Amino acid sequence: MSTTPAKTVKHIFVTGGVVSSLGKGIASASIGRLLKNMGLKVAIQKLDPYLNVDPGTMNPFQHGEVFVTDDGAETDLDLGHYERFLNQPCSRHSTYTSGRIYQTVINKERAGDYHGGTVQVIPHITDEIKQAIRAPVRADPDLDVLITEIGGTVGDIEGLPFLEAVRQFQHEVGRDHVVLCHLAYIPFIRAAGEIKTKPAQHSVQKLREIGLMPDFLLCRSEKKLDKGIKEKLSLFCNVPLAHVIELLDAKTIYEVPLNMQRQRFEGQIAERLRLPQATCDMRDWKLMLQHIRNPKDSITVALVGKYISLQDSYKSVTEAIDHAAWAHRLKANILRFEGEELEKDPQWRRKLHKADCIVVPGGFGKRGFESKVMAARLARESNLPFLGLCLGMQAAVVDFARHVLGLKEAHSWEMDEKTPHPVISLMEEQKAVIALGGTMRLGAFPCQLPRKTSRTSKAYGGKDEITERHRHRPQFNNTYRKACEDAGLLFTGLYVPDANKPEESLVEIIELRDHPFFVATQAHPEFKSSPVDPHPLFKALIGVAYRLRQQQGGGA
Ligand code: GLN
Repeated sequence: MSTTPAKTVKHIFVTGGVVSSLGKGIASASIGRLLKNMGLKVAIQKLDPYLNVDPGTMNPFQHGEVFVTDDGAETDLDLGHYERFLNQPCSRHSTYTSGRIYQTVINKERAGDYHGGTVQVIPHITDEIKQAIRAPVRADPDLDVLITEIGGTVGDIEGLPFLEAVRQFQHEVGRDHVVLCHLAYIPFIRAAGEIKTKPAQHSVQKLREIGLMPDFLLCRSEKKLDKGIKEKLSLFCNVPLAHVIELLDAKTIYEVPLNMQRQRFEGQIAERLRLPQATCDMRDWKLMLQHIRNPKDSITVALVGKYISLQDSYKSVTEAIDHAAWAHRLKANILRFEGEELEKDPQWRRKLHKADCIVVPGGFGKRGFESKVMAARLARESNLPFLGLCLGMQAAVVDFARHVLGLKEAHSWEMDEKTPHPVISLMEEQKAVIALGGTMRLGAFPCQLPRKTSRTSKAYGGKDEITERHRHRPQFNNTYRKACEDAGLLFTGLYVPDANKPEESLVEIIELRDHPFFVATQAHPEFKSSPVDPHPLFKALIGVAYRLRQQQGGGA
C-alpha cells in the first residue's frame, strides 16, 4: 500500500450579491483560467438553487441555451463559459441543482436508506450538497483546485441550504483550504454622480449572518472605484484592501482574466490557499485578445433561429461564430432572424443575401421550422456558404427531399407524424420513450469521416474519426439515403455502432456535392469551440465565406 498522503484539494467558492446577472460564471471561469495558467489542475462546477432537476426541460427563453457535456448532462449555459475559458470539458459533476439534490435525498428516503429517521434540510440536504462539492474531486485525483459557483443571489431563500453547506464544508476542511469570493454590484447613481457601497455592504452582512466571511470582494462596477471607495468597502465588508478587486465592465468577456491579473488576484488567491507561487503566463490569451481587438475586416453571418430575442439562447453558436471569425482575423456581424417573421417577410431573400453565409442552429417544434428550410434552400440554390446544426441539418434534408428529389410532402416526423415521406424519422430506441428530461440521444458519440476529399473531412484536418455532442430525438431516415446520394447529397459523417451492420449507421454529417460549402450536422459542434481552439467546421465556414466575398470583390 502506498503511504503517499492524499492530496489536499483547494476550494474556491464564488457567491453573488445585490443583483443577478453580474457575471459570476465569467468571474469563476476567469479565476479558473488564471490558475490553470499557473500550472494548476483546475475544475469548475455550478450549484444552482432552482428546483428543476436540470435545465433540459426548460424553454430557452427561461434559461438561455441548454449546454450539453460529453457525458450527456443537460446543463446551465455557464458551463459553456467554463469550457471556453479553460478549454477543457466539464462533466455531470460540474452542475447540481436543488432539484437534483432533493431527488437524490428523496430516492434514498424511499429506499429506506435513512433507517426510519426524519429526513431534513439540515443535515440531509446539506450533506448531499457537500457530496456534490466532493464529486469532482473524487472523479479526478489530480485536481489542485475546484471552483464552485453558487447560483442565485445571496439573500434568496432557496440558496440558503447551499450557503449553509459551504459554511459546514469550510469548517470541516479548514480555512486554509477554502477561499470565498463574493461578487457584488457597486452601483453608480447618475443623478447624484456617486458610487454607492451600501448594497454590497448589505449583501456581505447577509453572508455573515450565515457564518460566511468573504476573503475577496469582487466589485462589478461601470465606474472606476477610487481609493476612498475601496477603503470603505474594505472596512465595512471586512476584507483587506488588496482583496477588493475591481471588475469594470469589459469590452469582451475575455478581458476579465487580464483585468484580474493586473490586480494580482491569482497571486493573492495562491497566497491565501498556500499554493506554490508560480508565474501566470497569459501570452496565448493576450495574443487571442489582440486578434479580437484588431480585426482586419468583418464578415456577416445570418443566424436563422426562433429564440432570437433572448441573447443567451444561442450563446455557444454565436460564440463559435466569433471564435472562427477571430481565427481569420475578422469581426463577425451576426444578423439574427426570427424564423416566424422571416417566413412572412416578402423581402426575406434580399435580407438573407446581405449575409456572407448562413448558420441554422438547433431547436425544437414546428414554429419557425419552415424558415430554416427556406434558408437552407436559398443557401443551396445560390451557393451561399451554409452550416446547419442539429435541427439545421434536419431542415436542410427536408429542403433537399422536397425540392431536389421532388418529394413535395417530405417532412420531419417531429413536425408532421403523418408525412408520407418522413426523411427525418424517430430512432428505434426513441419510440418507447415517454418521459421528458434526459431521454434524448445525449452527449458525445464518435463519428467516422469516410470521404477523404469532402469539405467535412478537410475541415476536420483529414481525421478518420471525430467526436461531437448530441441532443436530439429524430434522425436522418436511411431509407432515403440512396436517393439523396444519387442526387448529390453526400454523407460525410457517420456514427457506426456496429461495423458488421453498416445499414444501422446513423447519418451525422451531410454536405452538398456541388457547392462551395454546404455542411450540416446532426451534432452540436458549437459546444466544443473555444476562443483559443475554434471549432473546425465554423472555421471552415467563415474561411470559405470570406474568400468567396473577396473573389466577388465585396466589401465588409
Ligand atoms: N428537434 C430536433 C430533434 O429532436 C433537433 C434538436 C436540436 O436541434 N437540438 O432531433
